[in-house]
Amino acid sequence: MNSVIKKCRVCGKEYEACRSANRGDTVFRWKEVACSPECGAIYLQRINESLSPSTLTKRVRMKKESEQTLTIVSEVQQTRANDTPEELEAES
Ligand SMILES: [Zn+2]
Repeated sequence: MNSVIKKCRVCGKEYEACRSANRGDTVFRWKEVACSPECGAIYLQRINESLSPSTLTKRVRMKKESEQTLTIVSEVQQTRANDTPEELEAES
């Protein structure tokens, strides 16, 4: 078994965390930081409390902006790809 000894970030107790292949599994998530689902819930609550609403809004806005930029870049690339054959045709 591929497991590691971790220290619970809530109560400080040492526990064994298995390296599960199931990423996105909720059990796997709390096992990364806490010894039990109870401690995991407390840890998540602490994170939620430490993040102020303004911080969250700012992060979401930044993410949206970067997504927009990516969309614009891909649109420009598509436009260029479409334009090039037409230009060559007109020149010949
Ligand atoms: Zn714990």
